[in-house]
Amino acid sequence: MTTPTLPSILFLAFTAAYLTIRGVFARRVRRSKAVSKADLRDRLLILLVGTGQVVLPCVCATQPLLAFADRAQPAACAVHGGVAMAVGLWLFWRSHADLGESWSVTLELNADHRLVTRGVYRLVRHPMYTSFIVLGIGQALLMANWIAGFAGLAATLLLVAIRLPNEEAMMIEAFGDEYRAYVRRTGAIVPKVA
Ligand code: SAH
Repeated sequence: MTTPTLPSILFLAFTAAYLTIRGVFARRVRRSKAVSKADLRDRLLILLVGTGQVVLPCVCATQPLLAFADRAQPAACAVHGGVAMAVGLWLFWRSHADLGESWSVTLELNADHRLVTRGVYRLVRHPMYTSFIVLGIGQALLMANWIAGFAGLAATLLLVAIRLPNEEAMMIEAFGDEYRAYVRRTGAIVPKVA
């Protein structure tokens, strides 16, 4: 057992809030979905993101296992990291609130799936993945360890590179021209600049 540093305690507090938000919204959605594109690769990606965002930082903060990869971190990083975590958490919450019943952990669609284009989805098609990137930056700034610090960001970038094209193909299959028009007026991860 190692004593967690103050920045890592801050990170764990944000992670507890993140898991609480996920838990609350996950309980509100229907279990059975009409369409599922959840293959093994997609499930492995989810596992990887969970490991990178939660498991490795928890291990690093409390156990000496990853101490060989510790690095020096200027104190100012903790402040910037806290700000990034707060912004990322806000966007994560708004994405869940706006997506509502249309959210699923794997690639799935409800029988009466509703295409959401309002709220944070008005500007960006994948604000939840944007929030993962911002949270990943916060994690890198708070966790002074090469592995636990960058694991969330690395796993998220892999998720975005592999899942995003499959997700958009699924949405085009389901919503056709309505989604194509949505693609034309929005950005995938950051708002489109005219
Ligand atoms: N990629 C989105 C949503 C992540 S949750 C984001 O980052 O915010 C993944 C599920 O959301 C997918 O299975 C899909 O069914 C659903 N989804 C994605 N974009 C959607 C949209 N604009 N409207 C409704 N459902 C959407």
